[in-house]
Amino acid sequence: MFHEDEIYYQGLNVNRASEERKNTCWINTQWQHPQCRVLLLHNQRNLIVWDRQADSTPVAISHSREEADAVLPDFEHLVFLGLDKEAPVFAADVSLNDESEILALPGEHELVDLREAGWLLSAQEAALLAYARGLLYWNRHNGFCSNCGNMAESQQGGHIRVCTNKGCARLQFPRTDPAVIMLVEDFSDPCNPRCLLGRNSRFPERLMSTLAGFVDPLESLEQCVQREVFEEAGIRVDRVAYQASQPWPFPSSIMLGFRAQALTTEITIDGVEIAEAHWFSPEQLNTFGEWRDGGVEYCLPRRDSIARYLIESWIKDTTG
Ligand SMILES: [Zn+2]
Repeated sequence: MFHEDEIYYQGLNVNRASEERKNTCWINTQWQHPQCRVLLLHNQRNLIVWDRQADSTPVAISHSREEADAVLPDFEHLVFLGLDKEAPVFAADVSLNDESEILALPGEHELVDLREAGWLLSAQEAALLAYARGLLYWNRHNGFCSNCGNMAESQQGGHIRVCTNKGCARLQFPRTDPAVIMLVEDFSDPCNPRCLLGRNSRFPERLMSTLAGFVDPLESLEQCVQREVFEEAGIRVDRVAYQASQPWPFPSSIMLGFRAQALTTEITIDGVEIAEAHWFSPEQLNTFGEWRDGGVEYCLPRRDSIARYLIESWIKDTTG
């Protein structure tokens, strides 16, 4: 079991220095700071030391400016993440470099997709790497003004992009796409509570999870929960209650976690987005394996997902 404060990718313990970073001189001073560290990302993959043979815990790698000097990009590809105590922390998108140049830097590191290693990292490292990935992704995909099409330049350490066309000067801020994720519970037989889990057709075989979906324009979160559950499983729900949230920078979402109570119980899947969906009792869920376990009928979502939190907290609440 884990607690809300253990939901991965949130609770980052870094001072974002939101006011100070508006000052370009201050940002430059941080970049020159002797304790400055920089996280390098290549095509959204993070640098990690991970001895898979020894089954060891992966560890995130950062570099000093001197260590990374050979591959450091210009300021357009650099973002300021914050202050780790006194030490300024930056992230650099080094995707324009050949991958071999990055791997040639000192250390036994490799480039790893955070979706593969995140759940094995320490929570703070996972949150920092996710922050770096999300902010660099946004900068990389917003190089041009969405209003007039001119170049948009990075300011405030990559936390804003400003159109270079003086007649437009549109400001663009990092965006986060809201998505709801919900555990639907059925108490029609109070002695035998059940919850609804499904397998998205993109998921591996046997992996069952809570339903989820993106919020439509002009839709409340509660309405979105009701619509998504009905579209994906044909179940009507009410009593939609917020539980917790999780930043999910793959590439730019925040997952808003809910519980909802079923009004109907007959499942009808669309067969396209959802490959299967079933009701499960807490006892059945306790027989589920871990992600990628062999020899089990079903497995739970990974430990770094809010889906896992929603399922485990529901088991805990219903079994006392
Ligand atoms: Zn513009």
